[in-house]
Amino acid sequence: MNVPVSRPLLDARETELVNDAMVAGDISGYHGKFIKEFETKFAEFISVKHAVTVSNGTTALHLALATIGITAGDEVLVSTFTNMATVFSILYQGAVPVPIDCEPDTWNIDSRLLEAKITSRTRVILVVHIFGHPVDMGPVMAVARANNLFVVEDVAEAHGAEYNGKRVGGIGDIAAYSFYANKILTTGEGGMVTTNNDEWAARARSLKSLAFGTQNKFMHDDVGFNYRLPNLQCAIGVAQLEKWEDIKRRKREMAAFYLDALKDISELQLPVEKLYAFNMYWMFLMVLRGALKGKRAAVMAQLKSRGVETREGFVPANEQNVLIARGITKPADCPIASSFASDSFYIPSGTNILKEEMQFVAQQVREVVEQLRV
Ligand SMILES: *Cc1c(COP(=O)(O)O)cnc(C)c1O
Repeated sequence: MNVPVSRPLLDARETELVNDAMVAGDISGYHGKFIKEFETKFAEFISVKHAVTVSNGTTALHLALATIGITAGDEVLVSTFTNMATVFSILYQGAVPVPIDCEPDTWNIDSRLLEAKITSRTRVILVVHIFGHPVDMGPVMAVARANNLFVVEDVAEAHGAEYNGKRVGGIGDIAAYSFYANKILTTGEGGMVTTNNDEWAARARSLKSLAFGTQNKFMHDDVGFNYRLPNLQCAIGVAQLEKWEDIKRRKREMAAFYLDALKDISELQLPVEKLYAFNMYWMFLMVLRGALKGKRAAVMAQLKSRGVETREGFVPANEQNVLIARGITKPADCPIASSFASDSFYIPSGTNILKEEMQFVAQQVREVVEQLRV
């Protein structure tokens, strides 16, 4: 057996709607009924007023920061353990990312560390609901409100995750999502920005499409971007939202299966679900502990030779050469992230994984741990 880390859940419905878009000739990000439909349905899904489609998660993050007016010299407090797209989006605006260390169990931003990093230039707290587990938003919002900061949510890995019963993405001031092929909901490549702020929604809509003029189209209102998402991709998004209940069930069943199958292996730190959380388990990330700490390369190589594809966890921002070289951060800034990140990896856990595949993967993990723990 050969099990890939992720396979998207696609069926005849995606094909049908993409075909509709093709037949209508609506293949751009400017025309086509699926653009509006995807935005309307996604806004309903998150329970927010506005949703704006964009070309991917990275451009969603950049557009969100540009929309709220983040500029050169502003400081953005950001979770260190994330996809670097989160951090790069800050740099695109000439702003300064300030990596914040994470909680050792959820791997999310540790809100207790925020206050000490606030300066007169701090404008934003950019939280990332990492690997599907919601950030503890209560304390984050309290710090933000007390210090007049905006809260931007990176929901690329947590579509449908809930904090105290409320879907994430609708809690902070503005949110960015990715629909890359391995994300919980996918359009292949794609993204979204959501907000309840009418003015920001209009600004995001303008900026994502070159800020074309309202009177004279080619007298632009601002320096815009082309971050449009084609109608073809939006058709896939509409079909994905239709199967949300199925996707949610599959993700939860995948996590429940692995949590049970691996719970007795003390060398594996498994994902958690806090009392405030409804975890969507984007990918099943684990951290090697005890006798297996420092042996990630061997574990991954062994699993690969047995037909199980795995992937390393993110290298945190405070360990990134391009950020260290610019004097933005240093490894010692976030000791918790540095203590586990190089021992983290995930196993096959996409929306379309089969029960037999999970059984096979769990068995291989068990045998490899057995072999390497001595
Ligand atoms: C995937 C991801 C992104 C980037 O999204 P793309 O669609 O790949 O540009 C940003 N942040 C996080 C946390 C992600 O997982």
